[in-house]
Amino acid sequence: MPKIKKQTTRDASREKEIYDLKQLLEISKSLTSVIDFSTLIEAILYTCMGQMKTLGVAIFTKKNFDAATFQLNRNYCGFELDENVDYTFQDDHPLIQFMSRPNACYTVADLQEIVPTDGPMKALYSLEPSLIVPLKTKNHINGLLVLGEQITSEPYSAYEKEHILNIASLASIAISNAALLEMSTTDLMTHLKLKHYFYTVLMEKLEFSLEHKFPLSVLMIDIDFFKRFNDTYGHSCGDTVLQMVANVIQQNTRSQDMAARYGGEEFVVMLCETAADSAKKIAERIRSSIENLDILYEGMHLNLTVSIGVAEYSPGMDKSGRQLVDRADKALYDAKQSGRNAVCLSK
Ligand code: GH3
Ligand code: MG
Ligand code: MG
Repeated sequence: MPKIKKQTTRDASREKEIYDLKQLLEISKSLTSVIDFSTLIEAILYTCMGQMKTLGVAIFTKKNFDAATFQLNRNYCGFELDENVDYTFQDDHPLIQFMSRPNACYTVADLQEIVPTDGPMKALYSLEPSLIVPLKTKNHINGLLVLGEQITSEPYSAYEKEHILNIASLASIAISNAALLEMSTTDLMTHLKLKHYFYTVLMEKLEFSLEHKFPLSVLMIDIDFFKRFNDTYGHSCGDTVLQMVANVIQQNTRSQDMAARYGGEEFVVMLCETAADSAKKIAERIRSSIENLDILYEGMHLNLTVSIGVAEYSPGMDKSGRQLVDRADKALYDAKQSGRNAVCLSK
């Protein structure tokens, strides 16, 4: 190759390296500034698509920080998933064990030689991925990236593999930060948020709602005669029931809302862009779902009820949300006074 041409090629590849390093800085800034888990997953997916020039990106992560399995995230692009197939890897699966060691990414052909082809591996291969990349901080895996083929249909080069490994380690740090936040803000028994975090988010959402003139409501929920329930069936039965009630509340809460365990058997829910009349309907749905729960415990069919207070933010209340929660609490007191198993709106 003539000397001048060689020099130009070297300059071009150096420029590309500098460009990619700048990209990595930007990626690092943007991923580490996202703490909400689903927004983070989306950001990782789109970063990988753009950087690796592929339309296919999916990611396996743990559903919550104490889960023992990696699941294919519902957010994915460019792969055809079979709804009858379980795309899950246990913590101790040979793939996860293997991926924890060398910092490298693999093709299906590579993995077929190393990891026994069992059910989970078959499910992975059925996606026809071009590259599987570990998300790793230190020697700990917190996810797997699955990449489809590049738009150019060319196999990933050694340089591209190195680039995606760098992105993957940034993504892994961001996931680990999001998991730490989740861990320190979540009630371990019910998996709902803790009170202090609820107030932090309530203040942010109130500010946003006031700015955009959106309504915002709060529900205070308290289990009726729970002391008697504990005394009759035991504390461990009570704990199971608390989890069931939390589950019903969570199922009736949209992703932009937030449900928290306020204290022992009390829960609080923030409903964004929701005025009192809609909030009351949601509260009524929660109340009746809990009333209709068939709790099977040691061969017995048990049931229980909740009382709910509803309040909507109104001008003049403080912007921390404390007065709003107080109003909902007073309405809850009214619901108790009215005979329990009831929903009351703040006056
Ligand atoms: P009310 O209808 O007026 O709300 O009556 P209550 O019995 O539910 O209210 P009270 O405040 O007298 O009792 C609350 C009970 O909730 C007392 C406590 O044993 C129970 N409790 C609080 N936290 C937990 C928990 O984590 N697990 C269990 N099993 N019980 C709990
Ligand atoms: Mg109670
Ligand atoms: Mg109570």
